Amino acid sequence: MLSTTTTSMSERKHMSTQTKSESEQKREGLLAIGPERYKQIFESVPLSMWEEEYTEVIQDVRAIKESGVDDVRAYLEAHPEVVADIASKAIILDVNQEAIRLYEADSKEHLLGSIARTFLPETYPFYLDSLVAVANGEAHFSGETRVQTLKGNIINILLSYLTMTQPDGSERVLLCIVDITHRKQIEEELTRSNRELEEFAYVASHDLQEPLRTINSYAKLLERRNGKDLDSKANGYLQKITDGAQRMQTLINDLLMLSRLGQAPRVFEPVACAQIVEEVLDSTRGSITKAGAQVTYDNLPTILGDHSQLRLVFQNLIGNGLKFRGSETPHIQIAAQRDNDRWVISVRDNGIGIDDDNKEVIFAMFQRVHGRGEYPGTGIGLAIVKKIVERHDGRIWVESEVGKGSNFCFTLRAAGMAEIAA
Ligand code: ADP
Repeated sequence: MLSTTTTSMSERKHMSTQTKSESEQKREGLLAIGPERYKQIFESVPLSMWEEEYTEVIQDVRAIKESGVDDVRAYLEAHPEVVADIASKAIILDVNQEAIRLYEADSKEHLLGSIARTFLPETYPFYLDSLVAVANGEAHFSGETRVQTLKGNIINILLSYLTMTQPDGSERVLLCIVDITHRKQIEEELTRSNRELEEFAYVASHDLQEPLRTINSYAKLLERRNGKDLDSKANGYLQKITDGAQRMQTLINDLLMLSRLGQAPRVFEPVACAQIVEEVLDSTRGSITKAGAQVTYDNLPTILGDHSQLRLVFQNLIGNGLKFRGSETPHIQIAAQRDNDRWVISVRDNGIGIDDDNKEVIFAMFQRVHGRGEYPGTGIGLAIVKKIVERHDGRIWVESEVGKGSNFCFTLRAAGMAEIAA
């Protein structure tokens, strides 16, 4: 009985393998690409596509490299006539329906006969980049540029090249073009409105200083001249005014610093992170000793950055590590690890920690998880840190568990030896 069952199972298994291979065969048959099926896909795919014969282009670029030119980009930049000559050797074989629509052409022939008209002066550096990619042996290249349609409208496009070696050894290139004009407009609007907001924050915080100074100085004057005539209740009110004005001054200073960051030019130089940490430790020696804290650092790199801005990053993170301490003696460890072309720098403390819900929120302006009564602060420090890290093309995040400390990690682009020596 048992053996009969086993046999029938294996038979079923065999049958299903057979059925599967039959269906697979059928599928393969249906998918087989003949010239007509290829044509149909190429024409109707909802993405602008061109196909070009690229054999001579690739041969010419390789010949430049083989002739001993080390820096192909510098060579092509210095010889625009060579780029024009190479460009003339690409033969556009076909464009699809979506490309005709995108380039506002009347027909395939119209577009094929007028492709040179779609180029703008700014398309040229993009084309040069694609030749450099060919020289580097890259089969795939992608980038953004602007072109002109045949009706004269300027459009932003994302263009991707894929070079394919044919069975006969010739080279073809398939170009996919996506219209990103709308996305670009939104990006530009966003940049403009961010700039306006920064300007507004700068002007507002700058102008707020004046009335605040008046409040402060008159409150002090009142205290000095009439303090002894006032009862303790009135003196308490006066103290509240001075404290409030002081707090507002701190907020304004932080806001000003944040908005100035967005306006400062990006001037990067080699910066030794260990030196910055030393400077911060020197300036916070008092609080470190008072807290009985131990701050250690190890293996910190030299990177390209803005010295005073990076100092603010370490100052804020170390300061927070001291401020948000738990019952244990504070221990802050600063370390770095290489990750491809980046350094990941971490500032780890053994303080009170942050719960999952607040790990992103704390990097926004004025966001504080812990009350002002418990820990002083304005909630701007981490917003400043984030902005600086992003201005250095990096990102920042926190790993933490409540009661077990926090590890603030941020990335910075590694500087090459040549950049450091320059
Ligand atoms: P501030 O320190 O002025 O409050 P920050 O922007 O530096 O402002 O920090 C925002 C909030 O993030 C803090 O109020 C605190 O709740 C939390 N936080 C920051 N650093 C730490 C840390 N090392 N440990 C625990 N919580 C932290």
